[in-house]
Amino acid sequence: MVKEKHSARMERIVSLCKRRGFIFQSSEIYGGLNGFWDYGPLGVELKRNLKDFWWRRNVREREDMVGMDGSIIMNRRVWQASGHEETFSDPLVDCRVCNTRHRADQLPERDGKKYCSHCGSSNLTAPRAFNLMFKSHTGPLEDDDNLVYLRPETAQAMFVQFRNVLDTSRQKLPFGIAQIGKAFRNEINPRNYTFRSREFEQMEIEYFCHAEDGLRLTDEWLKERLKFYEDIGIPRSKITIKDIPESERAFYSKKTYDLEYEFPFGVSELEGIAYRTDYDLSRHIEHSGKPLEYFDEAAGRKIIPHVVEPSAGVDRTALALICEAFDEETVTGDKGQTETRTVLRFHPRMAPIKCGVFPLLKNKPDLVAKARGIAATLRPHMQIFYDETGAIGRRYRRQDEAGTPFCVTVDFDPLGENGPTHKETVTLRHRDAMTQERVPISELLPRLMAATL
Ligand SMILES: [Zn+2]
Repeated sequence: MVKEKHSARMERIVSLCKRRGFIFQSSEIYGGLNGFWDYGPLGVELKRNLKDFWWRRNVREREDMVGMDGSIIMNRRVWQASGHEETFSDPLVDCRVCNTRHRADQLPERDGKKYCSHCGSSNLTAPRAFNLMFKSHTGPLEDDDNLVYLRPETAQAMFVQFRNVLDTSRQKLPFGIAQIGKAFRNEINPRNYTFRSREFEQMEIEYFCHAEDGLRLTDEWLKERLKFYEDIGIPRSKITIKDIPESERAFYSKKTYDLEYEFPFGVSELEGIAYRTDYDLSRHIEHSGKPLEYFDEAAGRKIIPHVVEPSAGVDRTALALICEAFDEETVTGDKGQTETRTVLRFHPRMAPIKCGVFPLLKNKPDLVAKARGIAATLRPHMQIFYDETGAIGRRYRRQDEAGTPFCVTVDFDPLGENGPTHKETVTLRHRDAMTQERVPISELLPRLMAATL
């Protein structure tokens, strides 16, 4: 019952995302491609706002962080050193009855026996390891010497460039490297809309430190990251912190927290914060034979830094923002009738469009010119949507569905037709409360800037 309600909610969210241009199926006119998605005009703005704020918070506002942008295809030896070539796999089983493929760890189990989630049969093949990395080849020869992978995570570039970044940025421990970029995993069963897809974007930090600070810094990053989610409109109460027990952690990790969000399809992981000790740098020192150590001046010797890794998904967070913002409420329309208002209550900082600008009537050249002038003044500073068609109530509703926090309507007053007191003022309408106020045109830009920064 509850589950049904949740899946109906998810269906309405998916439908809104397509209708309003947040998310489309990749290659839709050719039937799509399972596990791949395109972001439309509103979706790309949402994602960009998310990535920009993450970058600002984690790189520009911190003295101890620098950024980098690594290539997607790297030397194959990177993935041999990291262990991905050998062990980055899921257990794959086939159902002998209906011929569907499944991840063994995702199948229902009764009395120690796994069952096909499609037909219910227990006639399954033994699980075999299926490597999740997409393969390709560099150059014209498709042989083993030219085998490359599309990176399954952005993290490795930050480890293999550790020495170059250290030497050029002149950072001292503790310091971190941040990166945002695409990663690829050939998931057996992509599912839950954009949540588990085969091409996705990550926002990752590798924070290098002394061994004795690792556990403390892991807890500091946990606090930092929880604050980030609050600052983009995902309240603390909606996030579950999972302290992963030792038996489920990677053998080299001394602490791992998963941050999970309550999606309509279930509580699922948004971000992992892992204390990875000196595992990654040690592996690359061993495999490359290059000195990736750090000279610790206080101790007068070389050490291998430890690392804390907060790793978040862009697409997952964008989906959480949409799910969190989605609301339907019953309101009274212009003519006293009740209707359902669909509204995305994005934090103004994340909203794809910050402000709609409308002339009250499109056949009054004075109003149109004034409204276009206001839109042009605001546009260099934020995403604006100018709209002059339809009744004003309809235009507000369209912006509610896009999650636009503010709308400015130019009525007759800026022209002084209602007397001098209202001259050079407009109506500013607030999305959530649907209240309106008169605001001098000269105050619009500073007010909107402050609210959406
Ligand atoms: Zn089956």
